[in-house]
Amino acid sequence: MRLGNLRGRAVLLSRDMTRGVDLETASAGRFGPSVPHALANWEAVRELAASVELSGAPAVDPVALGACSPAPRAVFAIGLNYRDHAQEAGLPLSPEPIVFTKFPSCLVGPHSDVVLSGDRVDWEAELVVVVGRRAENVSEVRALEFVAGFCAGQDISDRKLQFASAPPQFSLGKSCATFGPIGPAIVTLDELAHPLDLAIMCDLDGERMQASRTSQLISSVPELVAYLSRYCELAPGDLIFTGTPGGVGSGRKRYLKPGETIRTEIEGVGTLVNRCVAARA
Ligand code: ZN
Repeated sequence: MRLGNLRGRAVLLSRDMTRGVDLETASAGRFGPSVPHALANWEAVRELAASVELSGAPAVDPVALGACSPAPRAVFAIGLNYRDHAQEAGLPLSPEPIVFTKFPSCLVGPHSDVVLSGDRVDWEAELVVVVGRRAENVSEVRALEFVAGFCAGQDISDRKLQFASAPPQFSLGKSCATFGPIGPAIVTLDELAHPLDLAIMCDLDGERMQASRTSQLISSVPELVAYLSRYCELAPGDLIFTGTPGGVGSGRKRYLKPGETIRTEIEGVGTLVNRCVAARA
């Protein structure tokens, strides 16, 4: 199943995400209209979705899609979770996951503009986990049962703000308005042949900046769900940004400029296309 957020309404999307059916309409009012309501009833929505025919469904304008989990209670993010990114950052690998938050107010849709807060704003392509069930102290073996699906994400980061304090602060510099594009939809893991080994890529104006595989994550998705649920209860709709591979701008001494387009793709999950714009003076 692919579930998107079309102008605030949950929509079941076709495999290529060009067609969709409104969930509330398809369920005769049982589910929806919002994505959070669908996430609170995830297994029943999945059962219903299996019987919905999408091949002749109305066309969906992908630009009209919003953040696929628009109101998470918590957004977790993981630092330095790929070896090559830790190397380019000049930082040692951490013995335990580095956990910070992106405040939910930064979340935007898969085609939203990214407003540059300064001249050292950076890209970070990431696999994002969407929680599907309340999870408290779950085991790694059972962790994926608590995952609604995956989406693609950008952990846009203002490096100047991130490193302005001592020690550096991750959350604020990664939470400016528009710094959390996610989508295009929540894709359930049964849609993916190898859900823990997906190609992840980021292009800037057509030039490849990042290319890796999610099997290279130092802390895997099951490990992260188990680890976080040991300390915090995870709730439906909560997000986990799992970390970015090498190739970000700070390692290249190159940052985002107004007019540039960031294209973020995760194999089988989908693509984000975000144009950078200058902050209004
Ligand atoms: Zn990140």
